[in-house]
Amino acid sequence: MIQHYQHIKSLLQEAGMKTTPQRLAVLDYMISCKCHPCVDEVYQAVCEHVPDISKATVYKVLESFAQEGILSKMSTNDGKLKYDYIDERHHHMFDVENGEIKDFADHELDEILNKYFRSRKIDGYVIEDVKLEIKVKKQNKNN
Ligand SMILES: [Zn+2]
Repeated sequence: MIQHYQHIKSLLQEAGMKTTPQRLAVLDYMISCKCHPCVDEVYQAVCEHVPDISKATVYKVLESFAQEGILSKMSTNDGKLKYDYIDERHHHMFDVENGEIKDFADHELDEILNKYFRSRKIDGYVIEDVKLEIKVKKQNKNN
């Protein structure tokens, strides 16, 4: 537990941010939840530990983490903004039926993508990152 908090503190330090209870709580949740929450979900979880935190603060903290590259942002089909802690490199599977987002990690796929974009450049742009959005739905057992 102490190690976990040291890790969070060092992440904040590297980003040049002061350690505040709000930032600690938000980052703690984002690292441990292993999910892709929206602002509301983060707020729900965090206000149990930091009762006086407002949703606006949670939003501001999340946005500042995203700016520092600690979190990434994505939007779902229905336009909801979700946050993701950047740990291991991964792509995302979007369940078109229930809106669930799951991580999809595959090193072989990453190598194929890297190779492809190394050989075929996009005119006038430098590629920063390539992320796949894989749309899925649960297989019907009767099919
Ligand atoms: Zn993810």
